[in-house]
Amino acid sequence: MNKVFPVPQPAPAPSLAPLDGNAITARLKELAAFSDVPGELTRLSLTPSHKRAAAQVSHWMREAGLTQVHMDATGTIVGRYAADRANAKTLLIGSHIDTVRNAGIYDGNLGVLTAIAAVEALNTQGLRLPFAIEVAAFADEEGVRFLSTLTSSKAMAGIFDPKSLEDVDQQGISRAEALRSFGAPAERVSECRRDPADMIGYVEVHIEQGPVLEAAGAPLGIVTGIAGASRGHIRVRGEAGHSGTLPMPMRHDALAAAAEMILAVEARGRADADALVTTVGTMIIAGSAVNVVPGEVQFSLDVRTLSDDLRQRAVADIRAAIDEIAARRGVRAVLDIGHEVPAAPCHGALKERMAEVVEGLGLPVLRLPSGAGHDAMVFRGIMPMAMLFVRSQNGSHNPREYASPADIGLAAQALHAFLLKTAGEV
Ligand SMILES: [Zn+2]
Repeated sequence: MNKVFPVPQPAPAPSLAPLDGNAITARLKELAAFSDVPGELTRLSLTPSHKRAAAQVSHWMREAGLTQVHMDATGTIVGRYAADRANAKTLLIGSHIDTVRNAGIYDGNLGVLTAIAAVEALNTQGLRLPFAIEVAAFADEEGVRFLSTLTSSKAMAGIFDPKSLEDVDQQGISRAEALRSFGAPAERVSECRRDPADMIGYVEVHIEQGPVLEAAGAPLGIVTGIAGASRGHIRVRGEAGHSGTLPMPMRHDALAAAAEMILAVEARGRADADALVTTVGTMIIAGSAVNVVPGEVQFSLDVRTLSDDLRQRAVADIRAAIDEIAARRGVRAVLDIGHEVPAAPCHGALKERMAEVVEGLGLPVLRLPSGAGHDAMVFRGIMPMAMLFVRSQNGSHNPREYASPADIGLAAQALHAFLLKTAGEV
C-alpha cells in the first residue's frame, strides 16, 4: 500500500468529446444543483430534488443515444444501448445519484456520468457492440433516509426484501409512499430482476473515498473486492462510585476497562494493517460526571476486511482480549455482533480486463480493496462485478470531496476502452 509509483506517463488526449473530464465535471456541478437544502448538496433517496436529478439524468441518457430510458420500480433510472445483434447479453454499468447530507458532488454521480459518457462516445463513433449496455442511476445507496439500503441494486439482483417497503423515515413516510410520490411503480419490483444468464455483469466507476491512490500517485485503481464487515457493540459493567472516596485498588472502573479494550481493538487492526481495519466509533458512558467512577460503558465495534476468514479470526481475538481485560479488572463485558456482511470479491476476468485498459492508458496499475460498501456488492454470487476507483482528495461524504477533471477523463476513457475490450471477449 505504501509503494510509490513513478510519475505516470501523460495519457493520450481524449479523442472523443464525451470522454473529456471537464465536460463530465461540468455535468457533475449541474447535477449538484439538485439539492433539498440550498447552498449544499443534500439529495436523500426519493426526495423532490432526487426526482429532478433523475429527470436531468434521463435527459442526458437520451442525448447520449440510450433508449428505453425509464424509471424502474425502485426509482432507478435505466437506459439501454442496444447490441449489434439479437439475443445478445447485457452489461450493466452505473452507480447511484442519491447522496448523504451535505455531500460531495462526486460520490455515486461520477459513476453514472462516466457511464453515460462512455456510451455517448460509442454512439458518436457509430459503434454497436456484440452486447447490450444498460446504464443505471441507482436510487438508494447511501442509506440515510431509510434503515434498509441498496434496495435498487438488490431489486436488479433479485434479492429485494419486500419488508423494506414498510421502512419509515424520520417524518413517518414509508418507502412505499416515498416511491409512489417519486413516480416509481413499486408494485412491479419483481420485474426489476435481471436474469444472470442474460448478463455479462455489473461494472461501476466510483471515487476511492480514501487516500491510497493519492498517496501512490495513481489516478485510477483496480478494486479487488468490497470488504466484508462485522459490526456490534460491547457493554462493560463495573461499579460506579464516588471519585473522592473510592481508593484506586478497590475500583472496578468500566471506562478505564473500556479504554484498554479499545486499544486492544486498535492493536488487532494494526497487527494485520495491510488487510484489516478495526474501529471503535461511538461510546456511551452511563450517568457520566466529573466526580463519578464510571459504572457502565457501551462502545461500538466495526471490523472490515476482504477476507471473511481473517474477519472471523479478528473478531474472535478481540472477544478474547475483552474477556481477559474484563477478568483482570473485575468488570463484566459482553461483545454482541449484530451485523455481518460477507466480502464481495470482484470478478477475476472483469478485474483483469480493467487492469489491462488502465495499463493501456499508460497509467500505473494499483489494486486495492474497497472498505466502503457499494451497489456492486449486492451482485456477489449472482453475476460478475468489477469496480474502477478514481483518485479522490479530502475523503468523502463531505463537500470538500474532490476528483480532478484530468482523472475523471481518464476514468471515462478507461470505461470506454473496457467496453471495447469486452466486445472482443464475448
Ligand atoms: Zn457511493
